[in-house]
Amino acid sequence: MSIDTQIKLLKRRRTRIVATLGPASSDPAVIEQLIAAGVNVFRLNMSHGDHATHRETCRQVRRIADGAGQTVAVLADLCGPKIRTGRFRDGPITLATGATVTVTTRDVPGEPGLIPSQYAALAADVSEGDTILLNDGLVELQVTAVDGPDISCRVVYGGRLGDHKGINLPGVNVSAPSLTDKDREDARFALELGVDFLALSFVRRAADITDLRELIRNAGADTAIIAKIEKPEALDQAEGIIEAADAIMVARGDLGVELKPEQVPVAQSQLIDLARTRFKPVIVATQMLESMIDSARPTRAEVTDIAHAVTSGTDAVMLSAETAAGAYPVEAVKMMDRIVRQTESHLWQQGTYDRGVKAQRPRPVPMWNAMADAVAHVTHDLMAHAVLVLSKSGMSAATISSGRPAAPVVAVSSSPETCRRMALLWGVIPVLDTGQGSEAPEVLARRVAQELNLAAPGEHVVLIRGFHHDPALNTPSITVLTV
Ligand code: PEP
Repeated sequence: MSIDTQIKLLKRRRTRIVATLGPASSDPAVIEQLIAAGVNVFRLNMSHGDHATHRETCRQVRRIADGAGQTVAVLADLCGPKIRTGRFRDGPITLATGATVTVTTRDVPGEPGLIPSQYAALAADVSEGDTILLNDGLVELQVTAVDGPDISCRVVYGGRLGDHKGINLPGVNVSAPSLTDKDREDARFALELGVDFLALSFVRRAADITDLRELIRNAGADTAIIAKIEKPEALDQAEGIIEAADAIMVARGDLGVELKPEQVPVAQSQLIDLARTRFKPVIVATQMLESMIDSARPTRAEVTDIAHAVTSGTDAVMLSAETAAGAYPVEAVKMMDRIVRQTESHLWQQGTYDRGVKAQRPRPVPMWNAMADAVAHVTHDLMAHAVLVLSKSGMSAATISSGRPAAPVVAVSSSPETCRRMALLWGVIPVLDTGQGSEAPEVLARRVAQELNLAAPGEHVVLIRGFHHDPALNTPSITVLTV
């Protein structure tokens, strides 16, 4: 057997790319290059930057995407109850392993031996024996006593600590609400901007999503919600959270601190499978090309991590500081695009994008899943060149995408909002139908497949229609057309 390193790449990348915008990438010229390099969704991170900057960045994304004729979505990421250290009087301090320190909720500047916490309820939430992790888990403390607002701790693993670094409390029931006052303010602002997705951090239960949903409805909007899975509690409640949300993000930065690092890959795979069977897109996030913050080439482990996420069936992979604050934002997207294409081309040659999640399902399989699986089979067996689906809300497209068909899914909608929301779906090419549904579906399917250069005369395209939320009206069908 020989190993084929010269594999022919597929024309259309299936896995979507989410890129975070920040100082390194908010310039219009960079946004233009990022779109050309293949970004499908831009993330505005509400943990950084002010509203005026986010407003201008969002405006530029819309303007440049429209000019380029590309469907690009915008995601606003709400901080949630992220706990952080306060400020240190004379800059970062060093904590020595074995030393004793006090973490306090008093409003005082930090100094050697004293760490201020911005989270007022910290002393009430922790008790003797609990672990406090600081700065992405690089520094570990163990609580030895709690006295009013002061928490005495022993330093288990020392290190440097500066202003506003993250505090994680693995195994502690944090009493802070999932939707903080800042989140409410940021969410209203983001809705005013007309973003396509709101992501909520540190989700613990389905009710957290419902609270945000209510805020969105009260603002007269219908924006999709992404639940960021980064707490062990969220893993325990994963099914309910996935049901309540419109998409999920495997937020491995905080998840990797709250869980043991070795537990993250399994959690990632299981979350992808769970979300896929419920037609909810999944984003795998954080440290995917971390070394490219400073370097033009990634580590081999990072390349393998992206390839693994693609093989596991994720809808999207995300870049954070790599594009927000790194030295090589455009190169990072190009690198991610190349890794994804190479992996997908290999999977396509092997005959399936699916790792076997379908085989594990008990029968009878729900009708929507059965249809998605059938489309995947037909496209593979007929070597069809495109799947055409008419999608009002994006649900039909999400369903077909979840089966991971062999051909790209062209999802036609008369709503620009639906088209942008579908930008997160694996393998979906959103197409805005300006004809207001006047064309017969077969005519439209043949025309669009040819216009997109997906199918030539004599080749097969598959037309899907008839999905409906009302079971009485749900009559999905698969029609095979020859162009
Ligand atoms: C994460 O923790 O992995 C994450 C995506 O969240 P944030 O970047 O907001 O910390």
